[in-house]
Amino acid sequence: MDRRELLKLGALAGAAAVTGVGANALLRPSPAAALAGLPGGSPLGNRRVKNVIFLAYDGTGYEDFATADFFARRVVGQPLRYHQFLSEGLTGTMIPSSLTSWVTDSSAASSAWSTGRKIVNGAVNQFPDGTELTPILELARATGRATGLVTTARATHATPAAWVAKVRAREMEEEIAIQYLASGTDVILGGGQAYFDPAIRSDGRDLFGEFAGAGYDVVKTPGELASSSGSKLLGVFAPSTRHVAYEIDRRFGGVDQPSLADMVRAALPRLDGAEGGFVLQVEAGRMDHANHEQDAGAMVWDWIAADEALGVLLEFVADRDDTLLIHAPDHDTGGGVTFGWGSRYSRTDPALMTFGNVRCSYERLLLDLMPRNPSPAQVRELVEANVGVPVGDFAAENLAALVSGTDMAGLRWGHQNAVLGSMKYQVAQLLSQSFENRPERPPVSFATSNHTAGFVPVVLAGAGIEAGNLGVIDNTELFGVMTAALGIEFENPAMTADEAQELVDEG
Ligand code: ZN
Ligand code: MG
Ligand code: ZN
Repeated sequence: MDRRELLKLGALAGAAAVTGVGANALLRPSPAAALAGLPGGSPLGNRRVKNVIFLAYDGTGYEDFATADFFARRVVGQPLRYHQFLSEGLTGTMIPSSLTSWVTDSSAASSAWSTGRKIVNGAVNQFPDGTELTPILELARATGRATGLVTTARATHATPAAWVAKVRAREMEEEIAIQYLASGTDVILGGGQAYFDPAIRSDGRDLFGEFAGAGYDVVKTPGELASSSGSKLLGVFAPSTRHVAYEIDRRFGGVDQPSLADMVRAALPRLDGAEGGFVLQVEAGRMDHANHEQDAGAMVWDWIAADEALGVLLEFVADRDDTLLIHAPDHDTGGGVTFGWGSRYSRTDPALMTFGNVRCSYERLLLDLMPRNPSPAQVRELVEANVGVPVGDFAAENLAALVSGTDMAGLRWGHQNAVLGSMKYQVAQLLSQSFENRPERPPVSFATSNHTAGFVPVVLAGAGIEAGNLGVIDNTELFGVMTAALGIEFENPAMTADEAQELVDEG
């Protein structure tokens, strides 16, 4: 899209904008409520920046921050950079709702950031009538900027996809990979080789080959990543449909894949050279998955990995006023809380210290370590050695019975909710702190295996921004922050919640 087309589209969109007031409209805050009072509607006023970096934490909120903060200080021995970041930035509280649900999914949440519009959960930059929204990475490219996507989820997963692609359903990851290629996005790093692999893709297309043909360095291992020197880069590090490994499995399970910080270090110099500047989305994608699986050990280690990536980005924006860094979770998942335990809660901290014994995610335990038909004794040994919790006869027998004969790979780890009563949910209940107080495991209890409505912290930093308070903002307002900072004037078409719900009901 050239600049003229872009402006035309913007004008059309403006004309077509709908501002109906239906019953659902009352559920949502007025747009730009917090930012409207700021000069230029932007925390930067009329000042422009060259680069924008958006760091998304998927599926984690204030309670996880508290758990991870303890874990970082007391178990790892290194306080979270995020702790200070939250104190020094321009911070606020973000409402993460989607168009027709107070609880958002990741594709609607990411679409809200990248287009300034709420959509129905499950779609990527599309209303139910097929109307497409233009995401900010497309706008950035059309105005001469370099663009990048970095994630620990599959490269084609919902959060990164919504910065580039437009599809009816987030599950259309083969199509998303094709749209990535067509988009010309300069750097794409994540997991999920299946969607690029001709042996697995349903259309047999060799996307790896097509990316290479389009001038990309295509890499699949940390070694190849380190030795790549191409300016355009596709890195897909996890086999089949798997996400990049959890940090806990990378550290203790010998999984040879890059960390999020490694990927960010590879992306930055490639984009920073661009004359017109760049827009980069980085996603710490798997706290969400750990929370879906009620796996607090995997969650806190992924917070550590995310924090390292944050550190790399903070170093990058330090002492330069031309780069805006935006940080936000897209929503919370699981409602996992560290709960007070024992007389005067004196048993809380000692129980939290047992995080130090956890050496493996539930995903790796069940997918990679557990034999197909384990005996209770095998289960006990595997769990005690890797998850670090003692297993009694009852749990060992139940775990063995639960996993026997199950095709673990067919369970789509880190994707589906561990619905109540499902095998994954029952395993989590047996391994985690759930309804009983058990001294040998961290006192973290989950309210649900789904996303929650919890408001989440948002932080703006870099670009000469000083500490301050943004108040309560809507997720869609971050689009306006980015476009104002980049000097892009564009408005996407709008749809009311009632209109969208009607279309969904009509099927
Ligand atoms: Zn999410
Ligand atoms: Mg995500
Ligand atoms: Zn999720």
